[in-house]
Amino acid sequence: MAKLPPALTGGALPVVVIAGRPNVGKSTLFNRLVGRRQALVADTPGVTRDRKEAEAQLRGRTVRLVDTAGLEEAAPDTLYGRMRASSESAVAQADLVLFCIDARAGITPADSHFAVWLRRQGRPVLLIANKSEGRQGAAAAMEAYALGLGTPLAISAEHGEGLSDLMGEIADRLPPEAEAAPSGDEAGDVEGEEDERPAGPLRLAIVGRPNAGKSTLLNRLLGEERMITGPEPGLTRDSVTVMLHDAQGPIQLVDTAGLRRKARIDDASLEKMSVSASIEALKMAEVVVLTLDATLGVHEQDLQIARLIEREGRCCVLALNKWDAVEDRIATRQAISDRIETSLAQMRGIPVVSFSALTGAGVQKLLPVVRRAHDVWNRRVPTGALNRWFETMLERHSPPLVGGRRLKLRYMTQAKARPPTFILFGTRAELLPEDYQRYLVNGLRETFDLPGTPIRLLLRGTR
Ligand code: GDP
Ligand code: GDP
Repeated sequence: MAKLPPALTGGALPVVVIAGRPNVGKSTLFNRLVGRRQALVADTPGVTRDRKEAEAQLRGRTVRLVDTAGLEEAAPDTLYGRMRASSESAVAQADLVLFCIDARAGITPADSHFAVWLRRQGRPVLLIANKSEGRQGAAAAMEAYALGLGTPLAISAEHGEGLSDLMGEIADRLPPEAEAAPSGDEAGDVEGEEDERPAGPLRLAIVGRPNAGKSTLLNRLLGEERMITGPEPGLTRDSVTVMLHDAQGPIQLVDTAGLRRKARIDDASLEKMSVSASIEALKMAEVVVLTLDATLGVHEQDLQIARLIEREGRCCVLALNKWDAVEDRIATRQAISDRIETSLAQMRGIPVVSFSALTGAGVQKLLPVVRRAHDVWNRRVPTGALNRWFETMLERHSPPLVGGRRLKLRYMTQAKARPPTFILFGTRAELLPEDYQRYLVNGLRETFDLPGTPIRLLLRGTR
């Protein structure tokens, strides 16, 4: 069995957020659900993480679990205010919120206030009465009905009681799975199968170096699209949830925390922060708009962010901002394209949009390009067409000799989308040299019109 490479599991996973008062057992629950498989996401040296996140396997589904404990950095002075401030950005990005209360302590005013706020956020919530071990817990859990968040589920995170039910309840509430990988032999069944996309808005992040014009772009998009939600006065958080609407529906801007923080820090930390803020944002996003100051060309740091986007399996749109200030537009565009093609071969054909966020000229091109990129990222290639193509590729260039013997490549199937991921079966297929893999990936890109998206090729040896 071929193992999926780490980057794969980073594809747009359902996000499950654990929220609640301090001390109700959020971290204990988090550790329970993550279990031994704990693998910190974006475990990048030098990146300070302000949020505990890990991937967890729940009933065969991989989810990204977020623990909001300990997020009260710039705390407003009421407990409820702190709860809300610490959960706000996480809840906005959640596919499911696990709202925990302490069944022994009963319902506190902070719980009640938080519940009211949570109901208004419109995210699915599962109410959890933790510390319900033994009998007395069950009675206390009943009290939690009053919160108006449905039937509380009594568990004990510490004693491991009720966890199996909990996992089932979570699995039932997740958005439908879009991407079941076929098991080897039934691979042919995938043909004609439509990808079910997760419900909800397209998730978009705007990232880039300081001064590239991200905030200006954000404001421009909001101004033109009539913003729906925004920062609420009195909150100290940098994160806001912003919804845009275009002809095809809602788009959620995954906020890049740090956009509004500039005043307080020096340039060097700002540079660093722009990368770490980008990481946070792009993990939550489906499409990432990498914004450049076109007058400055492509910097190493832009490439670094682009590689992160690739590694996380997100699709990327390159935005050349400050186009108003570019003198020789043809030469600039060419220089930037050349640099991208040579330095980011793995994202060949990445869509490029040029505009001026400042004047607004050209900005209207951005969202249609984002939508198209999102479609490509979601695309499924039917198995029949894939294998007809595969045969011609094999005829054009026979698979190489490895250790004196020719590899026998048999067939391919697309295991999933988001990003497009293909499995290649064959005798000793796992030994296929990189250049032949590249030949196939480039061919896939051209033939099936998959520009700009990361493409994964998994090799599976058969007998
Ligand atoms: P957090 O602040 O919400 O993340 O809470 P913690 O996970 O740090 O837990 C707070 C305290 O509650 C710790 O002392 C835990 O050991 C305890 N605790 C967590 N879950 C349970 C439980 O199911 N039963 C009992 N009795 N205590 C628990
Ligand atoms: P951020 O750090 O990426 O959020 O960048 P800002 O949006 O704060 O923009 C940085 C500077 O670039 C500001 O002075 C903006 O006015 C300027 N700027 C942003 N977009 C454009 C543009 O399209 N053209 C020009 N000439 N300047 C721009």
